[in-house]
Amino acid sequence: MTRIVRTRAELRTALGPAARPIGLVPTMGWLHDGHRALMARARSENATTVVTIFVNPRQFGDPADLARYPRNEARDLEICEAEGVDLVFAPSVDEVYPPGFDTTVTVGAIGRPLEGAARPGHFDGVATVVSILFGLVRAEHAYFGQKDAQQVAVIRRVAIDLAIPTEVIACPTIREPDGLAMSSRNVHLSPPERAAAPVLWRALVAAREAWARGERSGDALRVTMRVALAGEPLATAEYVSCADAATLAELEHVEGSALLSLAVRFGTTRLIDNEPLG
Ligand code: AMP
Repeated sequence: MTRIVRTRAELRTALGPAARPIGLVPTMGWLHDGHRALMARARSENATTVVTIFVNPRQFGDPADLARYPRNEARDLEICEAEGVDLVFAPSVDEVYPPGFDTTVTVGAIGRPLEGAARPGHFDGVATVVSILFGLVRAEHAYFGQKDAQQVAVIRRVAIDLAIPTEVIACPTIREPDGLAMSSRNVHLSPPERAAAPVLWRALVAAREAWARGERSGDALRVTMRVALAGEPLATAEYVSCADAATLAELEHVEGSALLSLAVRFGTTRLIDNEPLG
């Protein structure tokens, strides 16, 4: 049976006798197979699995984006139940940020390029809420999707820098059969936009194939992705990147590993995806 708690106090009480280790899966709800894979991994490696469902206002720059973020708690709870999750923490905004709340985590260089440049303040919001959730749950392990590659890099940095003992574990991106990375935001795509959206994955695959044939120029790999995106009239590229996998600085030349990533708009919906090289 999955138990649901909504306050910090209830969470503390529920976690007191919980068998260890604890695996934590933080989410914003509207759960899909990407989230399910994180829950399954957490369950296989821990005695207790905790899922948090919280649409974090501090990581949204645009109020309209926050207002239309999809929510369906009843369905999310069924999914948690089916995945054998022990405990769901679904707090209100005031429970996470109590009256007088006055402390935020500021992310440094790792949060500046890519998503950080496109969404000012986003990673400070992520780092702040994740620090609170880590402090509340005190899990041995926490599971995040590689789909949000920069987010994983930011959270690893936060855990090291703030001496948070929870181990951060990245899990592979789960995709639709046509390659589109699963995302709660996919629900906003119109049928023609949905049909066009696999172009993100095609662009990444085209660049990966060029790299596999020996292409090592960062510019050439970025152009390969841009050309693929330009073939799709409904897609507007926001950025394409071929960056150092550790620092996320753009690469002139790919030597060892690298991270290909992109952000693309379809109407008002913004999608991101990435593929590691090497
Ligand atoms: P979200 O609810 O979008 O904040 O995502 C919660 C967690 O699920 C984050 O760690 C995401 O990176 C992860 N996630 C989202 N989509 C996917 C996916 N398609 N595959 C794997 N993990 C994902």
